[in-house]
Formats: sequence, structure tokens, C-alpha cells
Amino acid sequence: MSAHTPSRAVLTVLLFTSTGLLTPACTAEAPGPGTPAATGSTLDKKIARFAPVDLTVDISGLPGNEPGALAHILRAARLMDGLFLDQVWAGNASLLAQLAADDSIEGRARLHYFLINKGPWSRLDKNESFLGPEFGVPHKPEQANYYPADATKAQVEAWMSTLTGGDKASANGFFTVIRRDAGGRLIAVPYNVAYQNVLAEAAGHLRAAASMTAQPTLKKFLELRADAFQSNDYYASDIAWMELDATIEPTIGPYETYEDEWFGFKAAFEAFVTLRDDAETKKLGMFSAELQTLENALPIDAKYRNARLGALAPIRVVNVIFAAGDGNRGVQTAAFNLPNDDRVVKEKGSKRVMLKNVQEAKFQKALVPISGIALAAADRANLSFEAFFTHILMHELMHGLGPQQLTDGTAVRHALKNTYGAIEEAKADISGLWALQQLADRAVVSPQIARSMYTTFLASAFRSIRFGITEAHGKGIALQLNYLLDKGAFVVNADGTFAVNDAKIKDAVAGLTRDLMTIQATGDYAAAEALLKQMVVIRPEVQRVLDKLLDVPVDIEPRFVTAKTLLNR
Ligand code: ZN
Repeated sequence: MSAHTPSRAVLTVLLFTSTGLLTPACTAEAPGPGTPAATGSTLDKKIARFAPVDLTVDISGLPGNEPGALAHILRAARLMDGLFLDQVWAGNASLLAQLAADDSIEGRARLHYFLINKGPWSRLDKNESFLGPEFGVPHKPEQANYYPADATKAQVEAWMSTLTGGDKASANGFFTVIRRDAGGRLIAVPYNVAYQNVLAEAAGHLRAAASMTAQPTLKKFLELRADAFQSNDYYASDIAWMELDATIEPTIGPYETYEDEWFGFKAAFEAFVTLRDDAETKKLGMFSAELQTLENALPIDAKYRNARLGALAPIRVVNVIFAAGDGNRGVQTAAFNLPNDDRVVKEKGSKRVMLKNVQEAKFQKALVPISGIALAAADRANLSFEAFFTHILMHELMHGLGPQQLTDGTAVRHALKNTYGAIEEAKADISGLWALQQLADRAVVSPQIARSMYTTFLASAFRSIRFGITEAHGKGIALQLNYLLDKGAFVVNADGTFAVNDAKIKDAVAGLTRDLMTIQATGDYAAAEALLKQMVVIRPEVQRVLDKLLDVPVDIEPRFVTAKTLLNR
């Protein structure tokens, strides 16, 4: 089945262009944020939505052979790019070779945008192809390259329905591709067969890394993940990933299933090679110790408070040295929850990993310019990454606080049905502000954070709403923004900029926290629906700001500077 993996020659091209390790000339010439390119071509404008940014991580604290181990992990991680490209579309490898051979300015722009999107379709533009008709690119295949290009969804479904037991589990499992045998019949081919050569190479690098590190949980994960690449059984290595307790925190393998738009069955290869952020990890530990006190003080009827909070899902704060494959395409991942395998989640739960330096890059390249348009000059000084990131941490923790079930034991998620996601995301945001204010009042966090977090949240609301108000986070933000406007806690200046009203913000934040948590405690579906219907809209004064944001970058294009240095040592 090695016919399904990119050829060695194409992979070589790939390694020298796609990983961001070696900055292609086209990247260096990319127009800066908001600056229309000299040629003004449509493609240049599309590319300019991703602001280039150098991602660096301080690795000077890594002792002994750990940097060497890291370099081997990076070599394994780069291979995920080629695997992912092949998973997206069978035509990607040859198209990449064709694009890489074109030295013209337009040719390099095409290659550049191909590498951002990991294919010839613009992920920010509903997957429209950005190449001219002369390239003969089809519509982005919904089945990706997980299922035969000549099969229909109905055929594959019909075939799957004839299977039982292990055959069925294999066919609809995470780690197989569906192909045709010599007789044209559909068959499931395990990843360790379909991607045999590349996975063997990746396993070799992981074993080399394992032999160098002195950190036992890291060594164990690397060895087990190398085994998984060759056995196709990821269970033990997923458990080891949950138990990782090391300065180097790698995530590498087949994970997310978004690219399988037919069924969401098949896992895409990706890698995040990261270092743990010790200062933020300490902050998390400090906040965790405060959670029961915060729960006991929630601004809701005392009978809805939880006298004994359950155990926390683990959260890791890390800085990204390198990301590849599904972990580096289109809009950059800022945080993820893994693994997805139910057996592991049942036994060990899942882990939330927050990518701090990626969030900081987005803050600098998008949020700061947005604040220049959305906020009055005097308020811009209040913008702070520390407040931004601390609030994100608190948001994650607040998901675990407040009513989780009704008095009759029904889960809130069940009672609120389709409204649950938006209400829960809004709750986590707004109660995160409430909680940080409590902690600031008790000097657990610096009062500076409390001063800047409201303004920072206001600016970030515009950043979120830009992505639309159709999914849970966007809906939740619209709800909060409009509620706070109605309460006079956010105000619109005469020039159309927005500001925080210090006299009203604290009460309004507590009020919305109370309203949302009470809806959750009582499972009041009708109230949730009415609130969303009334509040999830983009009002004219908000739209006027959004209209001015067209030239602000939507996201970042990371350059992995530290990874490059490590690999060149
Ligand atoms: Zn959330």
C-alpha cells in the first residue's frame, strides 16, 4: 500500500518547503499585515490574512541530552506534514512538486498559500480552490483520501453495514483507510500498512529520542508511540501521553477527525512539539486551590452551589516549538483536548493543552490591531496579554464550576440540548471575569489583571465575532457583548469606538453569571432559547467596527525559529 504514501522524491521537496523550518523565499516576501501587496493580486490578499510570526521558545533550561532528544522528536514531527498532505487528497504530493518547481513570483505565492492550507483549497474561504482552472484541481473531496475517490458515501455506508465485529470496528475505526482490493471490493487498510515507510522512519526518530531523554514518562511515551506507529494499536501510548510529566511535551500521531467530512471516523496525522510553561503551570495550581472557595461564593442561589467539586481534568500550558500536519493548517490551533479514543477517556479522562506562545502571537498580530480600531485611544493602554491569557485559563477552569446537573440528576447538557454549547461557553467566559475579580479583590492575582481584563475582553470579543456567530463560542460572545451593552457596562463612544464603564462592569458581570448559571441549574430550555434568540445578533454599532477590521490579519503564519536552530545544530 506504499503507493498511497508520497514518493521519496516528493517528500524531500516537502521537507524543504512545507515545514516552516526553512523559510521559503516567498514567506519573506509576503506582504505585512494589512498592507496590500504591490501586485494587489487576490492571492496576495488571501495570504496577507495570515501574519507571519517567529515562534521562539527558550530551550536554554533543558539539561544534558534533552535538546538532542528534542531534535529527534522534531525529525519525527516533520514527517507528519507529508502524511497529512496525503490524507487530505491523493493529488497533493504531485501538485506540491509542480508548485515547488515554479520560481515565478506568482508561482511562489501559490506554493506559499498551498503550504498554509496543506492543499489547493483555501480553508478560510469555504474550501474554494485558489488555483486557476489550468491546474485541474477538483472540489475538495469530502471523503479526503480516507476513502476511494471513485466511491460514494452511500456505497461505503452500505458496505460498512454488512460488516460485524472486528471487521466493522476496523472499517469505521480511527486508524484505517478504505481502499479497493484487486477485485474492486472495499477493504480497510490499517495505517501501519498504508503509511508503512514513513511511520517506520518516524518510529526510528522517536526511539532515538527515547534513548536520549532522562525523563521517564517522556521516554515511556516515545517508546510506546513508536511501537504504535508500527502496530497500529495506539491505546497504551495514549495512556502514556495522559501520564506525561516532563519538560518536553510532545503530541504526535493520528488524532483529529475533522478532515473526514463524510463520517468523522478517520484520524489525521499531526504533531505539536512543545515545552511545558512552568510559570503558568504554577499559576494553574494556585487557581485550582481556589476553586471550591470560588464555587462557594458564586453569585447564584446557595442551593445551586456544589458543596464538593469533582476532580479537575488536567490542563497543561505549553509553548510550541513546532507544529505539523493537521496541527498546522489554516487557522492555527490555540488549544486542544485529547485523546479522542473513548476507551482512554473513560480510563484516564482527557487532557487540555493550551499553546501559550501561539495565543500570544495571535494577541499581538490580531488583537492589538483590532483594539486600535475598536477601542478609544485611552483604553488601548489597558490591553494586556497577561490578562488575556489568565482569563483563558480561568475560562477553562470555570467549565468545571457552577451547576453541572439539575436537582433530579439530569445533566445540564441534556436539559439545554442545542442551546447548551453557547450558554456554557458564555458562562465560562463571564464567570471567568467574575472569578478573576474575586481573586484580585483578595490579592491572589495582581489587581493589574483585574484592571486590564475587561478592556482586553472587550477587544477580544471583536476578534471572536469576526469568525462568525454560528458556532457555540461566537454565539456566546455575541450574547455577552450585547448583554453588557444593555447594562451600560460597555458603552459606544461618539466616534464609534467601544469602552468599558468601570462603574457598571462588575455588577453586570456578576448579573450575567447569575442569569446563565440559574438557567443551567433549572434546566430552563425556554429561557435559554429566548436569551439566545434575543442576544445572538450583530448590532449595527458592532458591525460598523467589524467593517473596519477587513485589513487586520485573521490569524498567524508561524515560523518555527527554535525548531530550525535545533535541527541545524
Ligand atoms: Zn470553553
